[in-house]
Amino acid sequence: MLLFKLIYSNGYYLPIGAHVFPAEKYRLIHDRLLASGVAEATDFLEPEPATDQDILLVHTPEYVHKLRTGTLSPLEEMELEIPYSPELVEAFWLAAGGSILAARQALTDRVSINIGGGFHHAFPDHGEGFCMIHDVAVAIRRMQRDGRIRTAMTVDCDVHHGNGTAAIFAGTRTRSEPLPSVSTSPLNREQPTANTMRRTHEGDVFTISLHQHNNYPAVKPPSSIDVDLPDGVGDDDYLAWLDNALSSGLRQFEPDLLCYIAGADPYREDQLGGLSLTMEGLKKRDELVFRVARARDIPVMVTFAGGYARNVEDTVAIQCIPTREGHHHRNITCTSQIPKPFAQTRIVAGSFGPRCRRYAGSVVELPDAPMPYRAGMRSFENAVARFATDYSAQDDNSRGQRHIVS
Ligand SMILES: [Zn+2]
Repeated sequence: MLLFKLIYSNGYYLPIGAHVFPAEKYRLIHDRLLASGVAEATDFLEPEPATDQDILLVHTPEYVHKLRTGTLSPLEEMELEIPYSPELVEAFWLAAGGSILAARQALTDRVSINIGGGFHHAFPDHGEGFCMIHDVAVAIRRMQRDGRIRTAMTVDCDVHHGNGTAAIFAGTRTRSEPLPSVSTSPLNREQPTANTMRRTHEGDVFTISLHQHNNYPAVKPPSSIDVDLPDGVGDDDYLAWLDNALSSGLRQFEPDLLCYIAGADPYREDQLGGLSLTMEGLKKRDELVFRVARARDIPVMVTFAGGYARNVEDTVAIQCIPTREGHHHRNITCTSQIPKPFAQTRIVAGSFGPRCRRYAGSVVELPDAPMPYRAGMRSFENAVARFATDYSAQDDNSRGQRHIVS
């Protein structure tokens, strides 16, 4: 039995006919999780559809009316790139209900996975790129409206930019300097510095998007952090950039909920993607997100977004990974918040800047600990986070001691 809930309904199936979007993947993921013994029937919760009131927390009354009455213009339907039907509207309302339930469960169980959703190309007033309704945004706004959270962070690892997410949560933004880490990255040699990692933020939802630059959507409204990856990026660089973006985001912003959009399309066999991640790299990606969140005691809700591998079984296999990784991380006892000394460490880290590669193999020491802790992590922040997790699990007689970073 899992220590958290999976949210699923047979109604997630999208009635779109023969299409590059594998609408049957939700059922296949559900079946595979059961058949492999990763999950049991009792681990699944069936969602209710979101109400129109929920949808209206994000989408305009005009757009909702058009969807409810089947009066999208031909252009609007073309932008959606999936054929409109009233049944399709029901499926998207259900996906949004699933993400609301996943958010609520994550706040209780620290982790929850919606075996669906992640429709990050939907805007308040129109749908795009197979996305009619932005289920994650609806879930965040509903949790805020209910007073369950104040802030949230979206971590979008789909190969396509989260344009809808960025547009929905855009506040008044100020452009900031590129991160110092840009100058240390080998990616910098392949792409102009200013386009590699952009950072802007103001508001109650912090958005991170790690995506292939030369891919849909052509226009990418600014997220709080955008990592524009060049074509063909493989596991190591991808993970370094994700690590960097998470560290940077969490240094600036403390979310009450982390919404992980775990697209399967950075996979090297994807038909609509141009990155080169392996199955193992995608596993490490999911592991990294859970580890970073757990070290800071941030609840995580997961949605699935895209995945268009030549072999649908690959997409299904990739989207089963978060359940395994979520269980692994949920299963490790952590004494909640990072202990106080580590808050101090994070300030020290800030003074060095987030040049993650510089800190590979960092040693973090507690003066009174029997031996140095060798983190061996890519980023300083995550070395500290790992240290904090391990440290908090120990018999703590060193708490309050100053520790040394070298
Ligand atoms: Zn995608």
